[in-house]
Amino acid sequence: MEDLKPLFSDACCEPLYIAGPCSAESREQLLAAARGVAAAEVSVLRAGVWKPRTKPGSFEGIGSKALEWLAEAKREYGLRVITEVATPEHLEQVLKAGLDGVWIGARTTTNPFAMQQIADALRGVDNAVIVKNPVIPDVDLWVGAIERIYNSGIRRLAAVHRGFGTHQTTPYRNAPHWSVPIELHRRIPTMSILSDPSHIGGRRDLVAQLSQQALDLGFSGLMIECHPRPEEALSDAAQQITPDTLSKLIATLKLRRTPAGNDALGDFRLHIDTIDSRIIELLAERMDVAREIGEYKRQHGMAVVQHDRYNELLLAAEAKAEAMSISKKFVNQIFSAIHEESVRQQLDVGKE
Ligand code: PEP
Ligand code: MN
Repeated sequence: MEDLKPLFSDACCEPLYIAGPCSAESREQLLAAARGVAAAEVSVLRAGVWKPRTKPGSFEGIGSKALEWLAEAKREYGLRVITEVATPEHLEQVLKAGLDGVWIGARTTTNPFAMQQIADALRGVDNAVIVKNPVIPDVDLWVGAIERIYNSGIRRLAAVHRGFGTHQTTPYRNAPHWSVPIELHRRIPTMSILSDPSHIGGRRDLVAQLSQQALDLGFSGLMIECHPRPEEALSDAAQQITPDTLSKLIATLKLRRTPAGNDALGDFRLHIDTIDSRIIELLAERMDVAREIGEYKRQHGMAVVQHDRYNELLLAAEAKAEAMSISKKFVNQIFSAIHEESVRQQLDVGKE
């Protein structure tokens, strides 16, 4: 995808920040959010109008009426304005309202039929299209969705990493699996990838740390949920931040590294960071299994530490290390530490 264009015709710079409420709730709320976003010097406003909610009966968005408020925010504050679309009908209304672009949500990206319908409806359009990752960590599905949009002629195209649904215990609402967007970058190096710390964290106290982590990993920007009164939000109340917090966050973010691809050291570090993320994700997965084993042992009255099993595990790890030319001692130390933590996790199961 060598011929991609900037997401917005007059937008230039990295990092690109997009901010705004999860949902447009009222004219007053949306304009207050827009004012705050503009005051934080963020040039792109996001606000959901049709909300894909997990459970029926939750607030499902105001619908097309809210597009008027978004158009007003654009005029009033000189912002670029985007919203989520899930069907060709949504898209038609957004284009009619004169908005600058759309994003496609995680649930929609997961469905190739829905993606193709939207892609077909996008033919001849020059607006920005942002494709959030699918709910599952499947890079091919994400690339496929992006290719459908590209093949319909869209060149103002970017991706947003919003984390992945998981049954593992993580501190996050959606597990980041950083290696997935990094693989997407490897496959489509010319496309900007932003990160959405709000949907990854699910909690406002995690937004700053996840934002910095994304910039450190070379993401091109951030999409952050921002609401004038977050506690009163009709959707995603726990993860939205005030415009004031947004301003302070942006002022404290450190742009440490040249974006990936611009220098060799940056590329090597990015690669190392990806591997480290994978190691941590694998450790978390291992601890999940350890807790399941702990539960099994507890139910069957078995002791937590089985010495034969531990010895076997260490010997196998050492043999493998030797075959791969890494020090046996080093691997022994690592596996001893991993085993110790597994035992601790299994003992915790007994205490719950
Ligand atoms: C959103 O951005 O508010 C949203 C619903 O996004 P996602 O598709 O990431 O859940
Ligand atoms: Mn949201």
